[in-house]
Amino acid sequence: MADTQLSRVLPLEPIATLADYESAGGGCGLEAARRLGPVGTIEEIEASGLRGRGGGGFPTGTKWRTIAEHTSTAEHTTVVINGAEGEPGSFKDRTLLRRSPYGVIEGALIAAEATAADRVVIAVKETFTVERERLEAAVAEVVAAGWADGVSLEVVAGPSAYLYGEETALLEVLDGRPPFPRIAPPFRHGVEETPSLSPGEAAGTDMTQEGGSGAAPTLVNNVETAAHAAAILAQGAQWFREMGTAGSPGTFLCTISGDTVRHGVRELAMGTTLGDAIDVVGGGHRKGRRLIAALSGVANALVPQQLFDTPLTYEAMSAIGSGMGAAGFLVVDDASDLTSVVAGVSRFLAVESCGQCTPCKVDGLAISESLARIAGSNAAEESDLEVVTRRSSTVSNGARCYLGIQHETVVRSLLEVFPDAIPAHLDGRLPVAPPTLVAPIIDIVDGRAVLDRTQADKQPDWTHDATDSGKTPVERFGYGTAPA
Ligand code: SF4
Repeated sequence: MADTQLSRVLPLEPIATLADYESAGGGCGLEAARRLGPVGTIEEIEASGLRGRGGGGFPTGTKWRTIAEHTSTAEHTTVVINGAEGEPGSFKDRTLLRRSPYGVIEGALIAAEATAADRVVIAVKETFTVERERLEAAVAEVVAAGWADGVSLEVVAGPSAYLYGEETALLEVLDGRPPFPRIAPPFRHGVEETPSLSPGEAAGTDMTQEGGSGAAPTLVNNVETAAHAAAILAQGAQWFREMGTAGSPGTFLCTISGDTVRHGVRELAMGTTLGDAIDVVGGGHRKGRRLIAALSGVANALVPQQLFDTPLTYEAMSAIGSGMGAAGFLVVDDASDLTSVVAGVSRFLAVESCGQCTPCKVDGLAISESLARIAGSNAAEESDLEVVTRRSSTVSNGARCYLGIQHETVVRSLLEVFPDAIPAHLDGRLPVAPPTLVAPIIDIVDGRAVLDRTQADKQPDWTHDATDSGKTPVERFGYGTAPA
């Protein structure tokens, strides 16, 4: 594959000031949106085929149109840009915010223009100090330049919990509650709602009425999605479609980490094969080693090496039973132990589960403990495999958000795609391998991902105490569990 560095939305070097951004063409997208108006802007985004880059791949134009058609008669719409990246294996949103917060802010203002919103919130984690400083400085410049006239623009820093990146949990935080997901369709009442909640209950589930009703909708887009929207309005839908496929147009930001020569983030054309992405971004396999699989974050099935020629598109990744997710790939070679890696994923998801849905927490922890015993000790028994098999089919029962399904998907892919991985531990053919630390990337330094090592001692009750209290996070925060 030709090693041409794309930089449609991700500059190769950080953009220091708004003046530098404008010199490189920044601001043209917002001008175009104001010239086209809401209808024309939404049509342009629909024509581009842009899909949300936060993991869901939902058509952005459809989302914007639905919000625009469900405005409130009483309250204004809010645009929320989700910059709370915490998917293990992904560092692309933070890289984008570090290099150019301006494109993200411009895209957010275009979304506000399209949906008649008068408030934009860019949500990051309180631990993202570099990104927060960049954003706050950029917001001040943009406001001073008059770009945001009529729109309030704020940066909000939330908790470090994985679930804060979940769309509805993020809205809960903006409403002043802990990051516990709501039961909600994609376009629910948004921030500043005034639900009548019984103590400890998460917010409601109603759709805003078409044609207008009391409560305002909220548009939530990922930071990379916003940056693409700005580029599309500046360059046109057809320009965007010059790359990628009909179903997955454009470019995307790809993170590669794990067992590769180097780790990094690069912009690639949609349709680049997974193998080429690993080579171009990660430098390929380590000397003397053989790649065996890749994980698309902790949300999709393991992809065995034999399928590395799969194009990175939503449709092709789905067709092989996996998914694009946030395009952050954890690569595994033959020096690593797959059961140990999946045990690490399982622990991460079981710990981060909020406990509103009992199977997600209880079955999740049981799976995690059995996998840790299988990979990391000589004390595992057939009953551990039975626990992993049985509980992975119930862990997502009644799941309010996607986390329980993620747990089921990743663990079942180990059982189905690598059926000998666990038996090889149980009969002693593989050496003991403690669970791999699976945690968010907090930086990439000299081509190596730096993981959040505090994840290692995070307890299932979300404390870092020496022992777990046995309470779920929702119990600790005084919340109830989801109704059956
Ligand atoms: Fe919480 Fe898991 Fe239920 Fe999601 S599925 S709301 S993480 S308990």
